[in-house]
Amino acid sequence: MENQSNFIKSIMEEDLKTGKHSSIITRFPPEPNGFLHIGHARAIITNFELAKAFGGYTNLRYDDTNPSKEDDIYVKGILEDVKWLGYEPHGVYFASNYFTEMYERAKLLIRKGLAYVDDQTAEEIAKTRGDVVTPGIPSPYRNRSVEENLELFEAMKEGKFKEGEKVLRAKIDMASPNMNMRDPVLYRISFAHHHNTGDMWKIYPMYDYAHPIEDAIEGITHSLCSLEFEDHRPLYDWVVRETEMPLVPRQIEFGRLGIENTVMSKRYLKFLVDQGLVDGWDDPRMPTIGGLRRKGYTKEAIRAFILSTGLSKVNSEVSVDMLESFVREDLQAKTKRVFAVVNPLKVTITNYPEDKLEFVEVENNPDLSILGRRKVAFGRNIYIEKDDFVEVKPDNKFKRLSLGGEVRLFHTYFIKAYDVIKDKNGEVIEVLATYDPQTKSGSGFKDRKPDGTIHFVEATTAIPAQFNFYKNLLLDDQSLPLEQRFNKDSLEIKHGFIESALKDVQHQEKFQFVRNGYFNCYFDKKHKNHYVFNEVVALKSSYK
Ligand code: ATP
Ligand code: MG
Ligand code: MG
Repeated sequence: MENQSNFIKSIMEEDLKTGKHSSIITRFPPEPNGFLHIGHARAIITNFELAKAFGGYTNLRYDDTNPSKEDDIYVKGILEDVKWLGYEPHGVYFASNYFTEMYERAKLLIRKGLAYVDDQTAEEIAKTRGDVVTPGIPSPYRNRSVEENLELFEAMKEGKFKEGEKVLRAKIDMASPNMNMRDPVLYRISFAHHHNTGDMWKIYPMYDYAHPIEDAIEGITHSLCSLEFEDHRPLYDWVVRETEMPLVPRQIEFGRLGIENTVMSKRYLKFLVDQGLVDGWDDPRMPTIGGLRRKGYTKEAIRAFILSTGLSKVNSEVSVDMLESFVREDLQAKTKRVFAVVNPLKVTITNYPEDKLEFVEVENNPDLSILGRRKVAFGRNIYIEKDDFVEVKPDNKFKRLSLGGEVRLFHTYFIKAYDVIKDKNGEVIEVLATYDPQTKSGSGFKDRKPDGTIHFVEATTAIPAQFNFYKNLLLDDQSLPLEQRFNKDSLEIKHGFIESALKDVQHQEKFQFVRNGYFNCYFDKKHKNHYVFNEVVALKSSYK
């Protein structure tokens, strides 16, 4: 990773220097049982950037060895997300395409006396595994002959036994201090329909057996995985060695990335989707890549964030604020600064001619002329933010509009409020004001200083728009079970206006709405011509 050093990069450098490998080949191996989340982004970016740094390549491999939970919609979504992050896999493979080879190599283990068919139930196997201080109890079926094992394994494959009736286990060491080495299960029976191989297989390899073979088949040199697999490494090496794979990959573990107050487990995210609590896997409140994209996060921001977290041998948890600061920094440097009024309050400028409308041409971003210019409309009827008006000015520090007070409207004139119209509940529904033609922006007017500068949109040309604001998906109370931690108030919808210059806004186009925040245009397919903007991130950090 450019200019970034880490312990995995050092290992790779060493392996090239000593001639152990002539190129670096990595893989990203998601299980297609859900969409990718921001944690996966660490694995994706790490794998692709490291291989790229050495002129090597990275495969995308679907680790689809568990038929009951996997689905083609995830297969498609995962590839889209990887590509959206800016990475093109060298090859796209499925673990299930290697099932035949895995099966043949399992028979090799049996012939070598290193695997046996066990008739014990899953509970019996768990119970006889022992614990750190107690050695496991060998299965009564551990010493079956090679012939019997081959026959039974074949029969398992043919579907002659029920699910759970038999498993294939490695014959390693029931007293090993490493529990993973106490005759781990290699194959189980399952009649579930597989998304790729259909009903062809009745037996499926376990992760610990399948993964090293997948890596070795693809010639992966460095197999990066998260920390929880550290204790599985001796088994990984055992499988590669004993199945006599010609190419030998090396497993290296790194710390998982967590984000505070964010649950990334696919099981929980799927629960939210299945319960209809969110609008799909790409709901902007979800920590999925799709959710972040729909919210308006950019791949550049995600990448910069991931690289900034570094890579180490410990799991880390970072604040949401840190992630947001990368998004803000990226959008600040590339968005147009335009006007939207989120909580509209009508203002009528009574000394402005009724039939007149003027347009002021302005730069979209004074720091970035490449973003062009637009015309801002001004007229007798405008909208300002409700928050930008109070009847009675509280103190001299008040920077907004009040009765008798004067403010500058961006790019146009000073206006002074002199009266209000209220509804029957006493709420202000309209402000009456006058403007001073002398104060036109650019005229150099300096005789008075207004209380502040506020934004507005001209009412007759304004486009109605919906604004979505997001809060954390989870309630803070960590004592609640996850199922009850869903924050019902995590989505707030407001209806306001955008300025007319945004008429041709594009889906996924991002803006800074001056004084309001960064927003992403998201056209809802169900409601054409309905302008929806998702809040990406606030203008300033709320972090104290
Ligand atoms: P989950 O528990 O969310 O279902 P997983 O690890 O089971 O995640 P996989 O699809 O198997 O999901 O993950 C593919 C790769 O992404 C694995 O190598 C895994 O280690 C890595 N990965 C998943 N979550 C994180 C994370 N939070 N930080 C770093 N790497 C991750
Ligand atoms: Mg996994
Ligand atoms: Mg998982």
